[in-house]
Amino acid sequence: MDSFEYNSVPSRVIFGSGKLKKLPAELDRLKLLSPLLLSTPRQRGLIDNLKDNLESHQIKWAGIFDEAAMHTPTDVTDRAMIMTKSSNADCVVSIGGGSTIGLGKAVSVRTGLPHICIPTTYAGSEMTPILGETADGVKKTRTDPKILPGTVIYDVDLTMTLPSSISATSGINAIAHGVEALYAINANPIINLMALEGIRALAKSLPAIIASPSDKTARTSAQYGAWLCGTCLGSVGMALHHKLCHTLGGSFNLPHAETHTIILPHALSYNAPEIPAVMAKLALVLHDCEGDAIRGLNILLARLKVKRGLKELGMREEDIDKAADLAVASPYRNPRKVERDSIRELIRRAWAGEDAK
Ligand code: NAD
Repeated sequence: MDSFEYNSVPSRVIFGSGKLKKLPAELDRLKLLSPLLLSTPRQRGLIDNLKDNLESHQIKWAGIFDEAAMHTPTDVTDRAMIMTKSSNADCVVSIGGGSTIGLGKAVSVRTGLPHICIPTTYAGSEMTPILGETADGVKKTRTDPKILPGTVIYDVDLTMTLPSSISATSGINAIAHGVEALYAINANPIINLMALEGIRALAKSLPAIIASPSDKTARTSAQYGAWLCGTCLGSVGMALHHKLCHTLGGSFNLPHAETHTIILPHALSYNAPEIPAVMAKLALVLHDCEGDAIRGLNILLARLKVKRGLKELGMREEDIDKAADLAVASPYRNPRKVERDSIRELIRRAWAGEDAK
């Protein structure tokens, strides 16, 4: 076995159907009295339910802010900060996907207030000390242990309403965390186990969710996989795939999970010659792939009926060169040397929606 270093990420997880009801007990355990509740406009109804639950336990919520948006724009955070201060909240509770959790992290790290997360997608942000924020069209990402939420409540019941298309793409977003963890510069045996188990759970459950969105067993398994893959993202460094997605999302305003979904097979295919052992392990947890992990991913994406071309997300062909320049400007540590011409061809193939080989 190769030598390694391992740092565990200190977070508390409460997992299971109906566990949303544990929020009052969790606030009590942490001696917190007045949470600020965060959501997107679309998930405001969840906040209203949460409010009733808290009130029935004599907990007075401090305020409600329902303007969370993708890529954590700082002007939205500024408005949330005004409410945080004026309401005298003593903690933040974010309920939603990565966008709402990003806002919770942004408020928590600015104020020092404890943060409880209740995720409703599979994106995995709740398990990471990473925050990406967007100001003036530029997304900047930072890592700080203070950003990691203190408690995460995973309640599968909240994911039952997640539309099939978002279930598929946010699930692939989670798989991407697991894939890149396997060839991270600081990979280690514990994270490898989590990554493979997380990918296995998601690769099996996502097609079942698309076939039957009300399949609670499949949704539970997907949430379990998302937790494991999110932990990988929070523990080890990411490489070419995440760099490409951050570049494309931040500079061309492409949607986060859909971009991850399109790029993943291409980024993996780029690195494949340098990571034969990882490719072999991946092939064991993907289905019907006959020992070929790229084939396994292509089959999985076909079953999920997701978009395969960046052009379908609105990216212009003339932006391919700019994207290649940005992607190679300050590359993340990657198993294969990042070369501009090859990266341009990777982005071109992803833009056109061609299968990765
Ligand atoms: P999202 O949070 O933007 O959610 C997409 C839409 O789905 C929103 O309108 C949301 O309200 C809705 N939604 C969420 N859950 C729902 C449910 N159960 N039922 C019905 N509707 C629901 O999408 P996402 O993919 O979870 O998050 C993307 C954001 O998260 C990006 O900004 C990305 O940068 C960030 N992210 C950060 C990290 C990190 O570690 N910092 C990791 C992953 C993603």
